[in-house]
Amino acid sequence: MARLGISQEKIQKKGAEFHKSYLAFQKDLSKYKKVSNAQLIPITDQLEVYRSNLDCKPGCSYCCHYRVTAFTHEIVAIYLHIHNTFTPKQLNRIKEKIIKTASTVSCMSEEERISTNVECPMLIDDRCSTYSVRPMSCAGFHSTSLEFCKRQFQGSDEINGASAWIMKIGESLLIERSIADNVIRHTKQDHSQYELVTSLATLLKKPSLIAKWRKTGKPIFSNATV
Ligand code: SF4
Repeated sequence: MARLGISQEKIQKKGAEFHKSYLAFQKDLSKYKKVSNAQLIPITDQLEVYRSNLDCKPGCSYCCHYRVTAFTHEIVAIYLHIHNTFTPKQLNRIKEKIIKTASTVSCMSEEERISTNVECPMLIDDRCSTYSVRPMSCAGFHSTSLEFCKRQFQGSDEINGASAWIMKIGESLLIERSIADNVIRHTKQDHSQYELVTSLATLLKKPSLIAKWRKTGKPIFSNATV
């Protein structure tokens, strides 16, 4: 933790603060029903200040081996993106990877998944091939310590993954997710989040589910609940 310059005690305190913020957001989701651009701009300005402290770089992909959860619209966006922008060869390749990875993770318990580095099928040459439409949980993930990410990847369970986060960025991720959750609830759509790879494989096998979701807003990924 030398690079972070903080003690284990402080890290635990930080984790507890995150948890407290999360519970507060969960308790009062309606608070974020009406968020104007004027309120959001100061948050994004602050993020610019913190950007220089981040160790995240293109080509670094340790975090793309975690389990990702996403809202239905995010999963549909990835499905449409690969169908609209990939060449037939790229599309076949990624479809194969998604289905193969889904069959691997579907046999794993939650504990096994957490302790195993399963590469996200959208990762190609250590870069996200669906970067412009990656889920919010990927976009908000970040690290102040490459060494910390390496240790986590190698199986260290010293502390949880959010400990190398910048509090303000973590909080803004929670706010964004709360806003998305509220908007989806408001439109009476399914606001659950699903395991990304299993749900994408489901869409690849049965694309008609997209039309069903658009028409009814009802859940379509019962096999990918988290
Ligand atoms: S969707 Fe992209 S950013 Fe997210 S885990 Fe997969 S490769 Fe990484």
